[in-house]
Amino acid sequence: MTSDRFLEGKRAVVTGGGKGIGLAISRRLSKRGAMVVMAGRNRDALMAAAEDINAAGGAVDYRVCDVAEEQDVLELFAAVESMDGIDILINNAGMGRFGPVMETSVADWDAVMGTNLRGAFLCSREAMLRMRERGGRIISIGSVVSFKGYVNQGAYSASKHGLLGLTKVIGAEGQKYGIIAQAVCPGGVATDMAGTARPDLDRSGLMLPEDVADAVEFLLRQRGNAATDCIQLRRMGNSPWQ
Ligand code: NDP
Repeated sequence: MTSDRFLEGKRAVVTGGGKGIGLAISRRLSKRGAMVVMAGRNRDALMAAAEDINAAGGAVDYRVCDVAEEQDVLELFAAVESMDGIDILINNAGMGRFGPVMETSVADWDAVMGTNLRGAFLCSREAMLRMRERGGRIISIGSVVSFKGYVNQGAYSASKHGLLGLTKVIGAEGQKYGIIAQAVCPGGVATDMAGTARPDLDRSGLMLPEDVADAVEFLLRQRGNAATDCIQLRRMGNSPWQ
């Protein structure tokens, strides 16, 4: 039996929660009863998102945080302590710089790795330290390029492969603490990032941020002896089973 507010009493952090996929996930977790802290760099976007969700009956707060900066992440999780801990971390914050490997600058490489991989590591480490008493969930938003290598996506693809590796290790290390680490790996989703990464794609064929939120909700609803490590979401128009 499912309940509409099955996350009542749970505390969640969603990185990059102010827009795109992170906003859809924040909205969904809030609708299911969770208290959500959205983290990102853009205060105005976070504030507008929080006002919107709270006007619809949610309980979300926000923190300005660059996940690539250790001090910011430490402050984010110190603030989370004041709401008596964390049950769910969604590693969603992500960015891309796209172009051939031969033309990729070290600055671009570091920027992508900083947010997508170092950021996920910093947030996961702080979450695990707080989850080890009571268990918890860490769900990371990977990508189709966690598995594939698309042209012009060297840094981005490497970061998303790395994120999957990190998720596997957190799953293995976290098991004895009741910490479950999972990944949702979507193909093209209609957000600002998709427009930059794949301007060639017809937007009408892209998935919606809510499709990713559905997958996250599915993972969080799993109970009993069933566990799913990774959900790969593809565009309906793409070739199946590839
Ligand atoms: P958007 O560009 O719409 O949103 C990215 C979010 O990440 C923003 O909220 C942004 O907030 C936040 N963010 C970026 N850098 C940082 C940082 N250093 N610290 C904190 N927050 C940061 O992208 P999407 O919603 O599309 O992407 C969300 C996730 O989904 C990413 O991990 C992306 O790689 C992944 N993904 C996206 C796909 C797509 O086709 N759109 C497909 C597969 C995966 P702010 O600017 O306020 O910091």
